Amino acid sequence: MSLRKNKVPRRVYLDYAATTPVRREVARAMAPFFVNEFGNPATLYRLGTAAYQAVSQSRTAVASALSTTPDTIVFTSGGTEANNLALFGLGRQTPPRFRHLVTTAIEHRSVLEPARQLQKEGWRVSYIPVNADGLVDPRQVLRVLRPTTALVSVMQANNEIGAVQPIAEIGRQLLKFRRTNSSSYPYFHTDACQAVSYLELAVDKLHVDLLSISASKLYGPKGAGALYIRRGVPLLPLLMGGGQEAGRRAGTENVPGIVGLGAAVTLGVTERDDVVQRMRALAGWFWNQLRKQFPGVRLLGPPPGSNRLPHNLNIIFPDVEGETLVLYLDRGGISCSTAAACASLAQEPSQVLSALGLSNQEIAHAVRFSLGQSTTRQDLNYVLRSLNTIQRIFKHGSAAS
Ligand SMILES: *Cc1c(COP(=O)(O)O)cnc(C)c1O
Repeated sequence: MSLRKNKVPRRVYLDYAATTPVRREVARAMAPFFVNEFGNPATLYRLGTAAYQAVSQSRTAVASALSTTPDTIVFTSGGTEANNLALFGLGRQTPPRFRHLVTTAIEHRSVLEPARQLQKEGWRVSYIPVNADGLVDPRQVLRVLRPTTALVSVMQANNEIGAVQPIAEIGRQLLKFRRTNSSSYPYFHTDACQAVSYLELAVDKLHVDLLSISASKLYGPKGAGALYIRRGVPLLPLLMGGGQEAGRRAGTENVPGIVGLGAAVTLGVTERDDVVQRMRALAGWFWNQLRKQFPGVRLLGPPPGSNRLPHNLNIIFPDVEGETLVLYLDRGGISCSTAAACASLAQEPSQVLSALGLSNQEIAHAVRFSLGQSTTRQDLNYVLRSLNTIQRIFKHGSAAS
């Protein structure tokens, strides 16, 4: 094949769960707002009002993707800020008798670390365990609720193992609990950063009060995201100053980023059904090939189906350590991950995989492939060939030791 002698190194990106490229359509929508339409949305002249209108349009687009109204959308610097705003914003506004937070063992660190900080500030935090597939049982949530619970935060879809949580069911249970206790507490937050391209996210059907999204995971720009805040949910802003975002997030708006988020969300929702089908078929085929060619491989997380994001394959490779695989595959232009991108910086075993009951030894053999828009069967065949080569080297010990 001519690719072997290709001067341009081949690039196969299989880490869409870490971040996505910006789609051309999205980059095109953003472009005018860097140079020509650079106005500050808070100003009164046409340049400013044009920027204000662009931000408003994006707000409408994001609201419509979540089946809600624009006044419930606050733009942030990404999923991390949205999650921090949900936990700290609500936490710092909560009367002292509500100092109990319920979350799960497999949240993104932008939920877990604020939870730990609240703990340091005197909160009680309950971490719900997950089953061996990484799924939360709604009954476990009910079991830990108390009249003092202020907030429940359960992610919609997990970034490492693609587990899709029963958010609507948990939401229904929480509504019942509130009704029984005639209380507006606990509020319900979900981190939906991984979900927008693959799952329907109608906030009323999910019964959530707060929902986080990130443009960086849906073919939009990095550094842009949003938090849905149901009307009437009390939040103290993290950033105070100029009163932007109806006083909920001060600072001159990231107009190009917000425009990019709006464009990306609209495209993502429009194409969702097709993308889900395509990803499911492609990932299913890849997994079957892996199983055939590498006896002993294990898929971590829920089996393929409605409880799993269609593009995510987190796999244990018995013969080679995950980190070694990632580095060897990278030599062939293939990008994949051992764990959440942020967790690999921290160099500790993935908490998510630990929560599944895996040993550190097993965790060391896990590799995550996350497919996306540009992934083809040829790409995956190339990965399979590369994996074969690496496995051969390691099985026969020439590169081991
Ligand atoms: C990426 C991600 C985040 C953080 O989003 P940023 O935009 O990178 O701050 C939060 N939660 C989940 C599940 C994610 O995948």
